[in-house]
Parts: sequence; C-alpha cells; structure tokens
Amino acid sequence: MEKQILLLPGDGIGPEIIAETKRVLEEIARLYHHTFQFVEGRIGGDAIDATGSPLPEETLDLAKGSDAILLGAVGGPKWDGNAPEKRPEKGLLQIRKALGLYANLRPVRVLKPLMGASTLKEEVLADVDLLIVRELTGGLYFGEPRERRQINGEDGAVDTLLYTRGEIERIVHQAFQFARTRKKRVVSVDKANVLESSRLWREIADEVAREYPDVTLSHMLVDNAAMQLIRDPRQFDVIVTENLFGDILSDEASMITGSLGLLPSASMNTSKVGLFEPVHGSAPDIAGTGAANPLATILSAAMMLQYSFGLADEAKAIEVAVDRVLAQGVRTKDIAKASENAVSTTAITNAVMEAL
Ligand code: ATP
Ligand code: MG
Repeated sequence: MEKQILLLPGDGIGPEIIAETKRVLEEIARLYHHTFQFVEGRIGGDAIDATGSPLPEETLDLAKGSDAILLGAVGGPKWDGNAPEKRPEKGLLQIRKALGLYANLRPVRVLKPLMGASTLKEEVLADVDLLIVRELTGGLYFGEPRERRQINGEDGAVDTLLYTRGEIERIVHQAFQFARTRKKRVVSVDKANVLESSRLWREIADEVAREYPDVTLSHMLVDNAAMQLIRDPRQFDVIVTENLFGDILSDEASMITGSLGLLPSASMNTSKVGLFEPVHGSAPDIAGTGAANPLATILSAAMMLQYSFGLADEAKAIEVAVDRVLAQGVRTKDIAKASENAVSTTAITNAVMEAL
C-alpha cells in the first residue's frame, strides 16, 4: 500500500514525539511492505513564529494532498498572550474546519500493566476496549440562535440543538464502518425520551443499521450510558453519539484507564482523511529534556493505520508491541513509580520497535 502522511510536529514536545513515531511507522512499512511517504508542515506556535499564521496556506495544501495527518501538539506559554486569531490552538480548529473533520474518535483501551493507576477494580477493567465516535461539527455547539435575551422580563439565554438528516447519517455510517473492523457492535447514545433531535437520531440510526446486517445496533439513553461506562465498560464496542453527549462521555471514559497520557484520538471526514493526535498537550515544561512519553502518539499512528488506511493487522501489531513494552516494565517518567527507573523518549520507542 502506498500512502502520503503529513507530519505536523507543532510545539513543545511535539517534534520529539513525532520524530519517534515516524520511526515506528517506517518499521511497520518495512515489516509489512508498504510505502509511506512522509511530508512535514508547520502548525501552531511554530507556524506563527515562521509565517505569522497558526495554519499557513502551505500546510493546508499539504494536508489536502495527503492521505492522513499525524499531529504532535500545539501551544505553550510563549503564545498565551496572543490575540485569538494568533493562538496556536486556532490552527487546529482551522484545519478541522477546512477538512470537514466531523467525526471525533476516542478509543479507550485498558493497558493491563498500568491497571493499578485506575480507581476501578481490575475485574471491571480487564479487556475494556471501546471506541467513542462523537459528532464534532453540529448540535448545541453550532446551532442558531445562540444568544442572551430577555425572557418573561428577566435575563435569559438560549442555545439551539439542531441536527439535519445528512449530519446524522454520515456519522452513524462512520460508526458502523469502524465497528466492522472491531467487534461489530454499535451502541447509539441519545436522549430520545426527552429530545426531538434524539428521536430523529434514533430513527436514522435504525435506518442506517439495515445497511450493515453484520453489525448489531442497540440504543441507550445518555444518563444510563454514563452509568454503564463506570459500572461495566466491557459491554461496549463502538459508541456513537452527538456532540455534547460525546464530549462528556469521552472525558468520562478516558478516566477509566487512569493513564490520560497514553490516549490517542482522531478526527475524520467521509473520505477517511483523518487528523491523528495524542489527547495530551504540548507539555512545554519537559520539552527538549528527552522525558516525553511518545506512546499516545504511537497509538495515534496505530489508529491512523486502522481507521484511515484499513490496516487492522498493522495497527494491532503496534498495540501489542506497546502492551509488551509496558509489561516489560519500560516506563517514561510520567508513568514510572518512584521505585522504577525511567527511560528516555528514544529508548521506549526503541523498545516498541524491538517488540514489533
Ligand atoms: P492543553 O492545555 O494543551 O490541553 P495542558 O497544558 O493542560 O494541555 P499538557 O500539555 O498535556 O497539559 O501537560 C500537562 C502535564 O502532563 C505536564 O506536566 C506535562 O509535562 C505532562 N505531560 C503531558 N503529556 C506528556 C507526555 N507525552 N509525556 C510526559 N509528560 C506529559
Ligand atoms: Mg498546555
């Protein structure tokens, strides 16, 4: 398989974790006989310093010509005082919008060697491997009107929860397609007992499901889903939901693992072009010290292989290699106990490559 991958290192530890992840992808290409062509672009504070803009035109052109994008992180104290249009984070919002990345993916996989870091019991945690697919460009975050107004003679405010058939269909289709590369179960989360938009959501989810007879669909109310995620997260494979519910459930689910620093994420569009990035930030406090943990970025690259390129075996190989390295006790400082020796960004990547 031949693919062009755009690397956007960004700021802080971004360049270090991207350089290490590139080595892992090169190893995958060698082992599985793929050709990955890497191009590199600027985004965030790095781009502001070089060009004045957090998302230069050149970067957007590179993105449009690539099959997938792997991003490090953006932001840092150097740019905190900037005007809103000149903030590093603006670059991320702009690239999501320009590429129409309406599907946000947040997998939660419990890494067995780190299970002790969670507050949940081990028997509840074992084998948790779920994916939250959140609608990212609609719903309450964008619906109009959204304003302060007088209501019955006092101060009030209004937000609008609005979804169209097209918006719901495309995100539900994505969820079913991802489920096909997993355990073939989709739970659609809504509030259909109260909200009209949820009733439409549920109707369309049922319609779309008929096109995927090999995948099972069930519906769950969001309040129940919030409870079930804590009570028994093993019951879930793919969860698909609207923007606000997805925002809340994905943060709740991320805490199941107890190790936020190891979580990958992605935003995708219909043509499966995706932006893959670690959930953590640019960690300016440790940039350049060789202490950064590259695993969340390496796992983001695995997501890219699975969800953008359809390379499920290669993705699995990376996940298994990361599990093995952690089982061997190899740790960067952020996940090492006081009694354990911490290794560098490069050393833990070398261990992953050996495990591969
Ligand atoms: P943001 O505002 O970008 O969401 P943040 O500033 O809240 O992020 P991070 O930049 O993620 O947070 O950093 C929070 C803490 O976690 C810092 O002390 C940082 O050093 C540490 N940290 C974050 N990511 C990593 C990593 N990959 N490896 C090691 N430590 C990390
Ligand atoms: Mg930060």
